[in-house]
Amino acid sequence: MKPQDTFAADQSAVMPTYGRADLWFERGQGSYLYDYDGLAYLDCASGIAVNNLGHNHPHLVAALHAQIDKVWHVSNLYRIEGQEKLAARLAKATALEHVFFCNSGAEANEGAVKMARRYHHAKGDTNRHVILCAGGAFHGRTLGMLAATDRPAFREGFGPMASGFIHAPFGNLNELRNQMSDKIAAIFIEPVQGEGGANAAPDGYLEGIRAAADEFGALVIADEIQTGMGRTGHLFAYQKAGIQPDLIAVAKGLGGGFPMGAIIARKEIGEAMGPGSHGTTFGGNPLAVAAGNAVMDVLEDEAFFPELGQRISQLDAGLAELASLYEGKIAELRGTGFLRGIKLSEGYEAGVLNGMLRDHKLLAVPAADNVLRLLPPLTISSDEVDELLRILHNAMKAL
Ligand SMILES: *Cc1c(COP(=O)(O)O)cnc(C)c1O
Repeated sequence: MKPQDTFAADQSAVMPTYGRADLWFERGQGSYLYDYDGLAYLDCASGIAVNNLGHNHPHLVAALHAQIDKVWHVSNLYRIEGQEKLAARLAKATALEHVFFCNSGAEANEGAVKMARRYHHAKGDTNRHVILCAGGAFHGRTLGMLAATDRPAFREGFGPMASGFIHAPFGNLNELRNQMSDKIAAIFIEPVQGEGGANAAPDGYLEGIRAAADEFGALVIADEIQTGMGRTGHLFAYQKAGIQPDLIAVAKGLGGGFPMGAIIARKEIGEAMGPGSHGTTFGGNPLAVAAGNAVMDVLEDEAFFPELGQRISQLDAGLAELASLYEGKIAELRGTGFLRGIKLSEGYEAGVLNGMLRDHKLLAVPAADNVLRLLPPLTISSDEVDELLRILHNAMKAL
């Protein structure tokens, strides 16, 4: 019996916080999800930038199987081999020193903000608590992160908002510098805004943020929850700009589908977080770090990023062609790497296009600002990129 025959949509006990599509997937393999009738969907949603290595990746499956037979959970009261290993790898890859493991993106961001404040507090700079965020930012749905997130609809009915968060328009260094003061603890930034509409930082923006933070004694927190773990063609998106953040929040792709997050911090920040200063029951449990280490094994393969670079170029070329063919319907191409957006012209709706793509067996994700977001698995093949482009052509023609 198929689940749709058992669970009527209008009687679901699942809280209706999502406008869910009436699609049910039974299994996944590589770049495809299969519904209960065995129909294949090319998955360029990747569980919203989570399944970066596609579905049922043999190395991840083997790593989880091996850990399942040993131990699932022990708590952070004890040292955990996989944590030590993954922390060392993330620290090395980012030229930072300390890693805290948690369970989700919002939790990673919350922790990063706490750490930024605690760092200044520990230095005796106790008035420095304001977090300067960007217009259009998305940092998560917890009470704290709602105040950092700049989406009024997400806040409706949930007030009062946490204080100590202000915003400057994304991409505008002058406006950002105008808001700098000795109260700013950190500048909090997504190198590419994902939910906000696949907005890549303009050239020089991240460098300017680093310079402003240094000048005013503030930290830089990079929210790499969506952009990290290879999504933009670099392990982390900030690396393209050549800047060094003080804190990095990671989640989504980190566990390849296993829920986990991490905060990577500079040594002095980690040292301001003594025993008892922060905690989590589940964070970094043996299953999670087994998944995280397996993801890192794949990303650290020498051939991984060169290969990904070729697929990204292929997609770039295909999207450029699409944009010129349908210039009346496509207002702009957005984003970078495998975090791409197609902004539709007035009169065309990203939500409608997304539904048409679904009918053509392609999964994508809408974003703010009438943008359709493409988040292909980083392991997508050349033939599958061609298939993605072919489906896009057919849907754009019909739109
Ligand atoms: C998804 C996302 C979050 C929130 O992550 P959750 O795991 O859903 O809490 C925060 N920041 C960015 C940039 C994201 O893309």
